[in-house]
Amino acid sequence: MNKAVFIDRDNTIIDDPGYISDPNGVKLLPGVELAIKSLAQAGFKNIVCTNQSGIARGMFTEDDLDKIHAELRRQLADKGARLDAIYYCPYHPQGTVDKYACESDMRKPKPGMLLKAASDRGLDLAECWMVGDSARDIEAGQRAGCRTIRVRIVSDAPQGSQQDDESVQADFTVRNLVEAARIIVREADRTDTWETPTPAAAIATAPPAVPTATQGTPPPATTPQAQEQTACPEPATASQTEPQPPTETDDAPSEDQKVRMEILTHVRRMSRNSEIEEFSFMKLAGGVMQLFALLALLVAVICILGNDVEKVSIATFWAIISVSLQTMALTFFTIQRNK
Ligand SMILES: [Mg+2]
Repeated sequence: MNKAVFIDRDNTIIDDPGYISDPNGVKLLPGVELAIKSLAQAGFKNIVCTNQSGIARGMFTEDDLDKIHAELRRQLADKGARLDAIYYCPYHPQGTVDKYACESDMRKPKPGMLLKAASDRGLDLAECWMVGDSARDIEAGQRAGCRTIRVRIVSDAPQGSQQDDESVQADFTVRNLVEAARIIVREADRTDTWETPTPAAAIATAPPAVPTATQGTPPPATTPQAQEQTACPEPATASQTEPQPPTETDDAPSEDQKVRMEILTHVRRMSRNSEIEEFSFMKLAGGVMQLFALLALLVAVICILGNDVEKVSIATFWAIISVSLQTMALTFFTIQRNK
């Protein structure tokens, strides 16, 4: 199973003072590297899906955006985290740059970027999540058939994007990406443990995948948009994926490995339960009885070694006590065994 978390960029991964046009403007929000690392450990690909209408508005170029994203990756790498891919949409219908001034199915709230990422990487959208701070992020996730989490960051900065359409309800609402990751990992654990069926509604609402890509093949550095999905006069780059280090991609566990890991986890859990069940009152009582039986036998032996007539009768008494206790211990052990 191939699953991913689609993550909005601005106000979800990095601070958003407005249109960031310079790598110096990239400032990670607190803890995002921890969230990304925990999601990766849980088997999710971390894929950024971000609207970048600043390109269509002529505020910066795609080259500038590449530098901004390189800086984003560098800052995350410094903290041991890594993004699997970044998809962006440069289009906007009111753009001032002709090349990008158009409607596009890649622009959220349309789900084009998510569908393309799923198609490029063979993702099961019903197992994927969309996390973002705006209603359009949530709508895009829902239209792609993903579960959704809305981030409401507490900040002094203007939160224009957070004041938008409240009619779009996410599955969860959190304060930051770390909380979102915690929910996603928890829900994934629950699904893995209990094998809950995929919600039928999620499948029913999932639109068809982008037909231009082949599943399982590594995505090219730049991929033209599907012509039939956009009114743009020219196909343009709508996605950016970083060359993937082969180790991390290849390290993704196969279906067999996942099944084996699941079985191993189950066996370990059963083994732990078995150890707990092995403790019982009967065994404890039997052990205590046996200990006292040995002590009584020891006293009896000491008395016999004394060669005293009076002590022989005491030794006999302790010997009888020892035999009785041993008999009781054996009784307890037998009861325990037959339970
Ligand atoms: Mg945002």
